[in-house]
Amino acid sequence: MSVREDLYKHGIGMTSQRTRERLLERLFEEGIRNLQVLEAIRRTPRHLFVDEALAHRAYEDTALPIGHNQTLSQPYIVARMTELLLGGGPLDKVLEVGTGSGYQTAILAQVVERVFTVERILPLQERAKAVLKDINIRNVVFRHADGNWGWPQYGPYDAIMVTAAPAEVPAELLAQLADGGRMVIPVGAREQYLTLIIRDGEQFIRQQVEPVRFVPLLAGAINS
Ligand code: SAH
Repeated sequence: MSVREDLYKHGIGMTSQRTRERLLERLFEEGIRNLQVLEAIRRTPRHLFVDEALAHRAYEDTALPIGHNQTLSQPYIVARMTELLLGGGPLDKVLEVGTGSGYQTAILAQVVERVFTVERILPLQERAKAVLKDINIRNVVFRHADGNWGWPQYGPYDAIMVTAAPAEVPAELLAQLADGGRMVIPVGAREQYLTLIIRDGEQFIRQQVEPVRFVPLLAGAINS
């Protein structure tokens, strides 16, 4: 189904097509230059990842609630994190911690080979799975678990993206990063910084990118 048919299907119509173009212009103005990332955002119907009552705001550059006290990140942050992850070239296996709505997962899945995504709240994971199936994204596998422990079975990963903030980077995630691999993660308890970590053998080179506000990375998996 084309994006336009899809918009009609959801009763949003042509206004939204213009709004979507405006979002891309805005991301470009904010400094997002990676064309693969911009194209993935252009193609992805963000309104399907939020409650119908919020669909009319889906193409604003703003974070939106997705229930269970969680939020879908602002498109600028999604774009920025994806761009940082891709900075070293093409990626095969990518681990994502914090599936949430699945929007960031959908963007990742269009710019890397395979995504392994972990979510601790079961109903969010189930909804994300259904939306990704609906829009025909197939190179993603889902796990309901505490992502502090990564997903050792398929590691090491060429890149790891974390979309909830720990006070400190979990050791297990560092251990599952391949040599030369990149991790993008918000770090900090009160003040958070988006952080890029590049592995060089047993060294981890860190770069603080910009201040951000994410929900906390919590412990344990829950069913409701
Ligand atoms: N990337 C998401 C943003 C979701 S908000 C999106 O595009 O919608 C952060 C998500 O991380 C929430 O869904 C939250 O439940 C999840 N999360 C928090 N701690 C976690 C953990 N330890 N393991 C897995 N997921 C976690």
